[in-house]
Amino acid sequence: MSDEKPYLYMVEVKLEETDNEAIKLRRTLQEEFNWNAEIVYREGGNQFSARNKSTLKQYSQYQSIKNEEELGNIKISNYDVGEFWRFEGGRLIFTWNEEEVFFEMPLNWQFEETHHDLFQLAHFVLVEPWDKTVLDNWNPSRKAGWRPGLAFSGGIDSTAALALMPSNTVLLYNERAEIPGQLDHTNAIRFFDNFEKKTNRPVIRIRSNHERLRQLKGKNAGFSSDYACAVQCIILADHFGLDSIATGMPLENSYLFHGYRYRNFNKSRYWNRYAPIFESVGLPLYQPVAGCSEIINMKISEHQGWSGWAQSCIRSSKEGFGCGGCWKCLRKNTMMGLPFSMSNEIETFLSKKPLKQAASTLYSIQQNAISSEGINIVKKFPHLKPFLALELDFLLFHHEPAMELIPHKYRKFTEDKLEQYVLPMTRSALTKLKRFDLYSDNE
Ligand SMILES: [Zn+2]
Repeated sequence: MSDEKPYLYMVEVKLEETDNEAIKLRRTLQEEFNWNAEIVYREGGNQFSARNKSTLKQYSQYQSIKNEEELGNIKISNYDVGEFWRFEGGRLIFTWNEEEVFFEMPLNWQFEETHHDLFQLAHFVLVEPWDKTVLDNWNPSRKAGWRPGLAFSGGIDSTAALALMPSNTVLLYNERAEIPGQLDHTNAIRFFDNFEKKTNRPVIRIRSNHERLRQLKGKNAGFSSDYACAVQCIILADHFGLDSIATGMPLENSYLFHGYRYRNFNKSRYWNRYAPIFESVGLPLYQPVAGCSEIINMKISEHQGWSGWAQSCIRSSKEGFGCGGCWKCLRKNTMMGLPFSMSNEIETFLSKKPLKQAASTLYSIQQNAISSEGINIVKKFPHLKPFLALELDFLLFHHEPAMELIPHKYRKFTEDKLEQYVLPMTRSALTKLKRFDLYSDNE
């Protein structure tokens, strides 16, 4: 061996201890001895190698920024936090138009240690459709933290996002509470418990009734704006030291406008509006699956060993199973070529024009159009027939421009991860994506 080619030693250590101890040992080897170490689970789930990196340096830098802020080097804001927010009995209360919604905060969360920009941004995403003035006096000064946060629902898309992000990502679940309805957290919580057992990473659950705001406007309970799904990440960004916010937004919501027409998302009004706002408070948007269809996301989640755990259906109380009758269940079952049953909800959605999440729904119907009761979707909904001959194979590739939207410090990481699961779009697939426009004749 010449001097330029030193030996490389690999040592395999078999542990009988718990996952927790394995993680501690890996950290010691890495931080104290500077040896790269990797935990490989004996049964499935971890087929890919990852490079572990210490984030101690980023954390120390973040701490010094915090200290500076505490010394009073913080910009004055025109936003009156106390007018809209208060904290009592462990609950953060947001008041708007004389209505109140709550967030149950972690035990050691501090109202006073949360930057006023975060309250203002949370306020903005909660009421944006009805009040355009929230950011009128926007004068942001919050500095970035040191690790990403993911609005994690336990569904297929956010599970795929999780697989493409570093392991120091904080996982935050919005747990809808005190709103009567069909929503059931059984499968999400079952997944989180199992995930924590296997990976030693907790999913932080924030109970909240903020989805009521939409109800007050005469609609179904739900997120008032696209980024209301991540409001728990915003209000906890200082508590966890977040430097970016991720969601499981798939290709069908990014590059496919309303799921049925291509748009250049990088240059869209949508992106150009939201990205700078989040960036300005040290929370750039991190959309790891913006270039991945729901079909790819399902594949990524399966590769991770989470099929049967990650569940997009939010109605089922049966562990490990969807309800079978909702729109999400229809799409998942047809996508996988599994039997599905027709329900009133599915009928309503299939009759609608434009078809909801059209590209991947059509792709799914192409795989399986007949329900377990023998109903043929195509015969029952003839307006879908012309679309069934469409070539939708672009949904099986990754759309590369989405990588440009990822915060620079995480881009390479996510790119490397993604490469393990999916190929970039071929020229012909890209052409099909760009031509995808279902209802062009009617407009
Ligand atoms: Zn369902």
